Amino acid sequence: MSDRELPAGVERREFDGTTRLATRGESVYGEPTEGEWRAWNPTRSKLGAMLDLEMDTGLEGGDEETVLYLGAASGTTVSHVADFAGPTYAVEFAARPVRDLLEAVDTRPRLFPLLKDARKPETYAHVVESDVDVIVQDVATRGQARVALENRRFLAEDGRLLLAVKARSEDVTRDPNDVFDDVREELAEGYELLETQRLDEYHTDHLGIVARPR
Ligand code: SAM
Repeated sequence: MSDRELPAGVERREFDGTTRLATRGESVYGEPTEGEWRAWNPTRSKLGAMLDLEMDTGLEGGDEETVLYLGAASGTTVSHVADFAGPTYAVEFAARPVRDLLEAVDTRPRLFPLLKDARKPETYAHVVESDVDVIVQDVATRGQARVALENRRFLAEDGRLLLAVKARSEDVTRDPNDVFDDVREELAEGYELLETQRLDEYHTDHLGIVARPR
């Protein structure tokens, strides 16, 4: 994959002789650094895996690109997003990881943490600007398609949903392929699916989805 297909501000660079995705910013989770660049570990990040596996995310990067990130946890992935994108709203409902997320915010003025439940978008609708360019979702909860549908209201008409679906969060007993079929079907209520790809190389029983609002 050439760097031209990656968002501006994301590059493949050498870290100790290994080529890895990287963004420019302060270290957050002990990842290797080289000068002002830090490695983006696809085994720790579904979005990193989607980019590394060459999915066409539509991410462009740059100050103008606005992102709503659902399921920010302690900031591993969303910190990389805030390194290359513009205003980045990071929703996470568990207080403990948000405390760590705040450390990533210290050096990232465009990263806005929100201690909120992604199933209740009305609780942050007054903060998040409408017409965001990208929704990234990695909530690992039951009802992942529903969360994406309920947050569609924030997405610009030509925006993109980048969704990582964890099969086991829906039902540990079912075949992941059946779970993914159901998620795809439910998502189609509000989205046109552009690309889907299993992320198993980095994340077992996860499906990456790129979609746009219909
Ligand atoms: N996206 C993170 C990253 O790559 O750095 C990892 C996210 S982790 C797999 C899933 C996160 O989703 C957990 O931190 C969990 O607390 C959060 N989560 C689950 N349900 C949620 C909800 N309804 N609203 C907000 N966050 C939720």
